[in-house]
Amino acid sequence: MSDYTYLMIAVDALTKPVTVAAWVGDESAPELFRREDPPLLEQLQAAVTPDLGGKSGAGKSARERIPLDVTAFTLLEEIDGETRAWLDQLGARPGRALTTAQVIRSWLVMFKAHPMGRTEVEINDHERRIRQWVGRIVDLLNPPPTFEITAPCPECSVEWVRLGGMVDEDEQMRALIAVTRHPVEESHAQCRCCGARWEGVHALRQLRIAIDDAEAAARAMVGEASDGLRSYVLRRRHGFVGDRPTGDRH
Ligand SMILES: [Zn+2]
Repeated sequence: MSDYTYLMIAVDALTKPVTVAAWVGDESAPELFRREDPPLLEQLQAAVTPDLGGKSGAGKSARERIPLDVTAFTLLEEIDGETRAWLDQLGARPGRALTTAQVIRSWLVMFKAHPMGRTEVEINDHERRIRQWVGRIVDLLNPPPTFEITAPCPECSVEWVRLGGMVDEDEQMRALIAVTRHPVEESHAQCRCCGARWEGVHALRQLRIAIDDAEAAARAMVGEASDGLRSYVLRRRHGFVGDRPTGDRH
């Protein structure tokens, strides 16, 4: 018996209105404030063309009026394209008029309708993919605090990267970045060079250890090198190196 619960929760997170709850007011009289935001996919769609419907665009050509958020647009295209392909694989031909949310919900119905049930792997893979999209939309709409880690990546050893489009040699950025979230278990660090990712407290601790180990190894190497150099200088000074002893040995 296939269990679709978490897959359905993930699809809901992407396609259903989002309830936001927060405490407002001062500490002596806090009030719980609830608000219902549009579904994440609709918020993403709105982010693609942030000026749509605004008054500022009057009299301009469509191209000037609608600035395109390329990141939001690319993500939306990715989700739309991939979920249409999922539906296609199940033998359905989604019409162009269908919204991305409708495509995903139609896909879910057909996916669950399989008479033999789906395998756990199949269900988990789709759930993971949809959760990734949810996370990416949330990050895009509300970027979490991010800081650079001042150490090379323990996976690829790269410390500095130049991001796409940067021409200036000086405009390099740290390869390792940390993205902090609450709860802290949802924080992660990532390498902008090789894509290695450390998610959650345990993985971040492992990263810290890997960085410390790499630093200790680097220090040891520098130590060995400078020891080597020192002994070379000493030997040279005492005439052990070179073709002619200086003769000041006893
Ligand atoms: Zn890396």
